[in-house]
Amino acid sequence: MTQEPDNAEAVRSLPPVICYPPETLPQPDIAGLQAALAGAMQGEATVAPPREAAVLRVPAGSFFQITSVDGPQVGDLNLFHANDLQERFYSGKTRALHGTHVDVGDRLWSCFPYLRPMATVVQDSLAWYGLDEFGGGVHDVIGTRCDPYTHNALSGGQYHHCCHSNLSRALADYTGQTPAGVEGMVHDVLNVFMCTGFTRDTGQYFMKASPVRPGDTLTLFAEIDLLAVLSACPGGDCSAEHSSDAAACYPLGMSVLTPRPGALGAWQSPPINGYDRTHGA
Ligand SMILES: [Zn+2]
Repeated sequence: MTQEPDNAEAVRSLPPVICYPPETLPQPDIAGLQAALAGAMQGEATVAPPREAAVLRVPAGSFFQITSVDGPQVGDLNLFHANDLQERFYSGKTRALHGTHVDVGDRLWSCFPYLRPMATVVQDSLAWYGLDEFGGGVHDVIGTRCDPYTHNALSGGQYHHCCHSNLSRALADYTGQTPAGVEGMVHDVLNVFMCTGFTRDTGQYFMKASPVRPGDTLTLFAEIDLLAVLSACPGGDCSAEHSSDAAACYPLGMSVLTPRPGALGAWQSPPINGYDRTHGA
């Protein structure tokens, strides 16, 4: 039973309160990082083939660039501390701190008990897109990753190239374990280049054709040593469907860009979170 109280309209019209005003967080020196990026040198690079994932180590203090090549393509990104794979990207807290989609100046935060910036967004060639009339934007932290379990629940099918499986295979190759053995390490992603939102009327998660074009880039600054694992989503530009081989699918470039000596000024890798972990016991 639900009964509207007399003051229903008054309650609905209360203004929203931002849960976590990010102004109180330590602020990155974006202008300094962008200057360092402008002078950075090309480092190690690899490619995530269509419907596959690739792994790249990104040293702390360098940049990690994802590039659209050949055709419109979205990517599902997992981030780990390269030297401690327990420290992983925490999309839920990143969303709570920075909103549904990330852009220049936002940080990608790690899970508890580390909770510190793993990476900072320093460049985004799709920043022009903004939020469209449907509430859609790019680079979301609201979707999880396409996965064969949800696909099976919805359709009963067996499909092996969802991003969850691609990330699991890449991580298995990297660690020398089996995909089933490492899939628990795969976590909710940054949906690179993907255009998503929630429908205004029903609040449902939606996707639409990504505005990404070959040559578009998203560049992160590695605040700590990173292991980046990126899947070229089977959905391609995610204009129609994923979890199948139906969509046109393209590779994604991944590369390290190394700043010139001294370009980072006084930058230091952030320490792990300062909470003492006694939890009141
Ligand atoms: Zn996917």
